Amino acid sequence: MTLKIKFRVLLTQCSEPIENGELIIEGGDILEISRQVSKVSTEYTIDLSDHLLMPGFVNAHSHLSLTALENKLSPSKNFACWIRDLIALNSALKNEERAWGIQKGASEMKSSGVTGLADYVADSALLDSIGGLGFRSVLFLEIIGFQNKKAEGLAKEVERIFKSHGSIWTLGIAPHAPYSVSEKLFLQLNQLSKKYGCLLSTHLAETDEESQFIEKGEGPLVDLLKDRKAFDVNWQAPATSPVSYLKSLGTLNEMVAVHCNFIDDDTDAVQAAVFCPKSTHWFGRINILPVRKMLDAGVPVALGTDSMASNDSLNFLEEIRMADKLLPEVSRKEILKMATSLGAEILRLPCGKIEPGQKGDFIGFKIGSDYSGDWHDIPFEPQRKKVDFYMVDGKF
Ligand SMILES: [Zn+2]
Repeated sequence: MTLKIKFRVLLTQCSEPIENGELIIEGGDILEISRQVSKVSTEYTIDLSDHLLMPGFVNAHSHLSLTALENKLSPSKNFACWIRDLIALNSALKNEERAWGIQKGASEMKSSGVTGLADYVADSALLDSIGGLGFRSVLFLEIIGFQNKKAEGLAKEVERIFKSHGSIWTLGIAPHAPYSVSEKLFLQLNQLSKKYGCLLSTHLAETDEESQFIEKGEGPLVDLLKDRKAFDVNWQAPATSPVSYLKSLGTLNEMVAVHCNFIDDDTDAVQAAVFCPKSTHWFGRINILPVRKMLDAGVPVALGTDSMASNDSLNFLEEIRMADKLLPEVSRKEILKMATSLGAEILRLPCGKIEPGQKGDFIGFKIGSDYSGDWHDIPFEPQRKKVDFYMVDGKF
């Protein structure tokens, strides 16, 4: 099918805004961007001549399976307490509640413009339902296991899932965090990521409790592991920062590192990072990912919602507005780039910018004929709760 979309303005994310033109889509791919009336004959035309059109948002970090925990958690006195609450509530969720939450979360993301998604999936039985939601997605298998003796069995299980699902969904591997995954397991999962050519992702340097755990081998996260009988008595603290620890294991090369609030001087060790604005705000974090510094150093930083265990909605328009509030030194143009092309780059998805050869994943915002502001401000307008046009793979 060949499709023509007329637009008022196009934010391509790889050139200056284009006004009053047409976009030609063929078989789900972008064929041509024309500044005037295109000569290509098409079967269908969509008239968005009163819309701003741009690439769909890429939500680079979420846990859709936790959406049913909406309003059930609050920031606890420390991070380990929040994890305890999360584990208890999550294990009590019924299958129907979880399935309902996944659908609700996906619908909130879509209505607010998310077309690309990286979701952490802890239960492989959910891969088909989350992979089938209609996003262009990377499903990261979330793995937890702090005892070295469990590493081999867990890595084998990951490989079994890759063999049975690998050709259906784009899979990645998410060792949960440096305080919940053993060194041996990190190394084995790193090997698997090389073998299957997939991405790794982890929660990294999120709290000072994590730094205390990795640097000194003490604090509330040690107590948490001990209480859950998940501690390894032979473990010795790496006595360095969480980022340096993973760097020393050689696991940061294909790694999408989420949070990185305590990254300090290690910014060049990370290849790709995800900032979760509303989750960061929800926890009241004082240390946050140094986005300006990382962008200046050429490190791609994307945006993510994280889960409803640390957020009050999965509306991505709220995320870009919170990013705008938390990052005064980063321009709105750059925030939109983080929300689109940088997310796609980090996740290796063929979307996030509008140029021939890329996939037809777009969102649109209706604009008044008298609008005279900066085009990049439109998605940030506070009254916008959802997008006015949504398309994935040339389908709408
Ligand atoms: Zn997360």
